[in-house]
Amino acid sequence: MKKIALVFTALLALSASVKAEKIKLIIDAAHGGNDAGARAVTGEKESDLCLQFANALKDEATKKNIDVVMIRTADDYKTLNERNTFKPEAGVKSLYISFHMNSENTKTARGAVIQYNGKAKDAAASRLIAEKLQSSFNRLNDMGTQIDENCKAMVIKNSEIPAILIEPGYMSNEHDLRRIKDKGIQQEMAMLIIKDIVE
Ligand SMILES: [Zn+2]
Repeated sequence: MKKIALVFTALLALSASVKAEKIKLIIDAAHGGNDAGARAVTGEKESDLCLQFANALKDEATKKNIDVVMIRTADDYKTLNERNTFKPEAGVKSLYISFHMNSENTKTARGAVIQYNGKAKDAAASRLIAEKLQSSFNRLNDMGTQIDENCKAMVIKNSEIPAILIEPGYMSNEHDLRRIKDKGIQQEMAMLIIKDIVE
């Protein structure tokens, strides 16, 4: 009886410590300043849409008391060194999320893409969150989500902490552009991301 009680207490302590692990979310809005990234035929800049998604994600993270680091909060450019030199910290579950918008010459390509570096030391953690997000995004009406484990973006490729790059849609596709400009969709995707990070 005593032994069972001890095991039970130990389990309780363990679950409490797992729950208490702090989450630190680093949010990178790609491009900025002189680097606008892609441009929609209707004039929208990729850098602006990235910042809108970054802000929406920050708002949802703050509601859940997650520590947030914003790489940029204005229309300015950050160097590679200013974007990701984050190191793993004991007792902290860190995640780096970079937003880009997709664009192609063909107007037909559409849907979200989630990228990570499948060769990174902690690729498993990045893959796990990418797969969760893929199924969450795919529950959104009319949205296909691809995963690409060969991310070439340096902030992700060389990241020392789990890192994913999210492209919520194609600026070159009329349907996608309408969606990714929509504040409601931005917030809905941000909520899904936070839910998948916390759970
Ligand atoms: Zn980009």
